[in-house]
Amino acid sequence: MPDIAVIPLSQHIGAPNEPVVAKGDRVEEGQVLGKSASFISSPVHSPVYGEVIDIKKTFHPVLGPAPAVFIERDKGKDPKKYAEQDAAGFDAKELIQKVRDAGIVGMGGASFPTYVKLSVPEGRKINTLIINGAECEPYLTCDHVIMTKKAEEIIKGIRVVSRILQPEEIYIAIENNKKAAIFTFEKAVKRSTHRSISGIKVVSLETKYPQGGEKQLIKAITGKEVPPGKLPLDIGCLVQNVGTIYAIYEAVHFNKPLIERIITVSGDCLQRPGNYLVRVGSTIKDIVEHYGIELTKEPGKVVMGGPMMGIAQPHTDVPILKSTSGVLFLSAGQARVFEEQQCIRCAKCVDVCPVNLLPTDIMRNTKKSKKGALEELYVADCMECGACAYICPARIPLVQYIKEGKTLVAKKA
Ligand code: SF4
Ligand code: SF4
Repeated sequence: MPDIAVIPLSQHIGAPNEPVVAKGDRVEEGQVLGKSASFISSPVHSPVYGEVIDIKKTFHPVLGPAPAVFIERDKGKDPKKYAEQDAAGFDAKELIQKVRDAGIVGMGGASFPTYVKLSVPEGRKINTLIINGAECEPYLTCDHVIMTKKAEEIIKGIRVVSRILQPEEIYIAIENNKKAAIFTFEKAVKRSTHRSISGIKVVSLETKYPQGGEKQLIKAITGKEVPPGKLPLDIGCLVQNVGTIYAIYEAVHFNKPLIERIITVSGDCLQRPGNYLVRVGSTIKDIVEHYGIELTKEPGKVVMGGPMMGIAQPHTDVPILKSTSGVLFLSAGQARVFEEQQCIRCAKCVDVCPVNLLPTDIMRNTKKSKKGALEELYVADCMECGACAYICPARIPLVQYIKEGKTLVAKKA
């Protein structure tokens, strides 16, 4: 429970939210603070009871300077209790609305509004629902924890999604280094007598990076490939992260918005890495102080997310978002900064790309601002997994160039 919660107004991919509260307002835990009428958007809620003390720009861990609502917590108030409600009577439309109202976004890092993913257009059908428990980035174990501690609740969340989508097959995909999670789910599925659940298949996947990417999971499980420039929906598939499914369960069964999550706090600067249940809007500093997390080395880099796809932060006053899976404290030795060298055309980046892109060509065309060529290279299909930059012997920050290329392509002509 942060004393001052910092809630960035936009924590999703899509149209930015506008504040619906003003400085001086008293707010309840779970109250909407910002929203947008646009289809691709997701509201944000207050994680605590308290008073709005400011609405101003702050450092957003992904976007840089961005508007946020600051709430001073009312320390005399206990956290809200969310009573369980009967969810059986809701139809698909009502269930989707509940997911929308709860502000649920992809919690594996994608932060795409979940209700949009569940709103399958007329005439289209999801045949295969895949629950993503792969968690392939090094260090991160928050999904592993939720899978072992909350399997029954996740199963109830899967039932909700299954009622919305009516898929023909459901898979829970877990990397084979998470034996406890596989065992827990196999037991939970066996115990369930519900028709839609007893058919679920728990799939143990090879442990490799980036196994948890949507397209990689679909290929590993169904053998089908999402064509370049297309979405999983185009081949009748939908992938949802386990944490997101748990949030759906809480939204539908308890009317609870997405105001807290489990994050991993790890890195070689910590003696005791761990997973913590934290309120969205707590800063990294709050979490370190509150839990007494001891740093044994001076961090060279603080990263939000995993070491491959995470983003380095300039300080620890940045808030945890709905999509923050972890915070890493890496020593200077682990977080070395290299000087970019000339590309030696070794094609190692091409070999490792899981979506068959040509990172070196994308880098070259980004440098020349060639928008047309970047479109032809399907730059938008890059999942920013970082494998190309990791392998590159010339230490070229390929993902940075790719992100620039994406921005160039996204700009209107
Ligand atoms: S891995 Fe690096 S050096 Fe090799 S082709 Fe790709 S960009 Fe060039
Ligand atoms: S980051 Fe590099 S390896 Fe990963 S998908 Fe993008 S281009 Fe391919």
